[in-house]
Amino acid sequence: KHIPTCNKHKLSLSNPTSLSLFSFFPLHKSETKKSESRKDITMAVDSSLSSPLGPPACEKDAKALRFIEEMTRNADTVQENLLAEILRRNAETEYLRRFNLGGATDRDTFKSKLPIITYEDLQPEIQRIADGDRSPILSAHPISEFLTSSGTSAGERKLMPTIQEELDRRQLLYSLLMPVMNLYVPGLDKGKGLYFLFVKSETKTPGGLPARPVLTSYYKSDKFRSRPYDPYNVYTSPNEAILCADSFQSMYSQMLCGLLDRLSVLRVGAVFASGLLRAIRFLQLHWSRLANDIESGSLDSEITDPSIRQCMSDILKPDQHLAEFIRQECQTENWEGIITRIWPNTKYLDVIVTGAMAQYIPTLEYYSGGLPMACTMYASSECYFGLNLNPMSKPSEVSYTIMPNMAYFEFIPLGGSKAVELVDVKIGKEYELVVTTYAGLCRYRVGDILRVTGFHNSAPQFHFVRRKNVLLSIDSDKTDESELQKAVENASKLLLKECGTRVAEYTSYADTSTIPGHYVLYWELLVRDGERQPSHDTLTRCCLEMEESLNSVYRQCRVADNSVGPLEIRVVRNGTFEELMDYAISRGASINQYKVPRCVNFTPIVELLDSRVVSAHFSPALPHWTPERRRR
Ligand code: AMP
Repeated sequence: KHIPTCNKHKLSLSNPTSLSLFSFFPLHKSETKKSESRKDITMAVDSSLSSPLGPPACEKDAKALRFIEEMTRNADTVQENLLAEILRRNAETEYLRRFNLGGATDRDTFKSKLPIITYEDLQPEIQRIADGDRSPILSAHPISEFLTSSGTSAGERKLMPTIQEELDRRQLLYSLLMPVMNLYVPGLDKGKGLYFLFVKSETKTPGGLPARPVLTSYYKSDKFRSRPYDPYNVYTSPNEAILCADSFQSMYSQMLCGLLDRLSVLRVGAVFASGLLRAIRFLQLHWSRLANDIESGSLDSEITDPSIRQCMSDILKPDQHLAEFIRQECQTENWEGIITRIWPNTKYLDVIVTGAMAQYIPTLEYYSGGLPMACTMYASSECYFGLNLNPMSKPSEVSYTIMPNMAYFEFIPLGGSKAVELVDVKIGKEYELVVTTYAGLCRYRVGDILRVTGFHNSAPQFHFVRRKNVLLSIDSDKTDESELQKAVENASKLLLKECGTRVAEYTSYADTSTIPGHYVLYWELLVRDGERQPSHDTLTRCCLEMEESLNSVYRQCRVADNSVGPLEIRVVRNGTFEELMDYAISRGASINQYKVPRCVNFTPIVELLDSRVVSAHFSPALPHWTPERRRR
């Protein structure tokens, strides 16, 4: 696995922080002459540039594929050099000085002196940076902004520090996606992508740094807004529509553009499956208005954003025929295959359906008539990790190849404690991912559990198994067991106060049969003889009380993104949880160790619970949410 580094590789790998594909590649001897003036960029693909991954679609792709080859062939060297570079660069930071590395930049010293940490361990440093301390606390380079993770700490989004150049590193990973996709789906330069992309609200920390989700940061950057024209990466959505902070206006205009240009659309996507389903739901609710706009050639008056109105005035022209077509397709009850009916040239869906998003696969299959679903990359606010080198594989078989140039990676074997190197993980084993980033996270637990499925050269490929401690998730919300417990406790207090009733047992279920999906809580109540059942009104307020208790990402999904529906309590009849235990024991659970599962998703169990429901109650209002963070 430890490939001896030949001179050629030494050259390219000596500076893993270099962020341009060209500087990563020492041009091969045969190319050196002809590419001196970069003329090669415009030349036809030279067969000598062929990549082990397959024949590239164009010269630019050839470079990207070669980059992937170089990095994965030399994964260990890249990792070694990259860590040394981070440690050299950040040697004088307050955090690293604390561990007395004495100038050492090697992996053994680093691992022996620095602890593996979680967000909570870094909270004081992060708070100081957020409050305006500009001294080099975590990173020698100034923290340019905070990326707000969908992972929470004390109910609020985690704040991930980032530095300016990380944007280039993320961009570099993006630039590898289409070259890989082009190996599998030819002709993507002959049409466009209909992608539903959104910016979310952002705030400033007390010290004045922006705090926003990583994709909002990316879409608002020049890297995205002023991206050079690339025939393989043309979107139907104008930047103005993507950058509009009002989610209704943004979705409306993106959908309208997708409809107007329907025959050009070759791929349909969103970041996560839940987002794409939300777009389909939007079409179900608003097709009639959209068709009216297309018929009249004038934009709905609810779209008030001046830059959207301006750019749509160039795009929107009256088209009676298209308006009729949309009405005809959308007014039928049967929406099976609606995606390919409206966008008949779609070759695949570009959407993440791994991890928590796997629950949406059947619904997406239904709406798309079974189109392939490509999961192209694996990333987080902390760091972008890698990409899927076989993007047309079945969702259940998706593996992500971690790119060794993105950060320094370590892996804690499940049940073990000693972290191993990227190239030393073993096929079939599960690990927790730990990263050390240029922005100053050192040996930081991301919270993801991955299983090794194979290797591409010496870089391992991982199946995303799950995120640690997540019980319920519909969109970007993640609720863990203790958060759910707290929410049930708060609602129980209300129940007790109003009618003296207690919650005897509970479990939960992420119901994705509706769009948007919603949390369902099954409650068995302890109603003593002679006591009255709690009223419907009380139980609906218990739903809202629970929503108020859940973390800010959940409440944002409910309030701002409309990506999670009202929480529901289903009261089940007495004895249901005993039946649940009997069922588990009949399937081999130990009676002594049996614990009520706090979340269920196994169909027979959900069916059992549903068959015992005596009443159902929904949250009657939106919980409270504002973009501002609560201070600790
Ligand atoms: P955030 O920090 O909010 O950007 O969320 C990042 C997390 O989303 C990761 O740590 C994963 O748990 C999850 N995630 C990102 N990409 C994928 C993927 N391709 N498949 C499954 N889960 C993913």
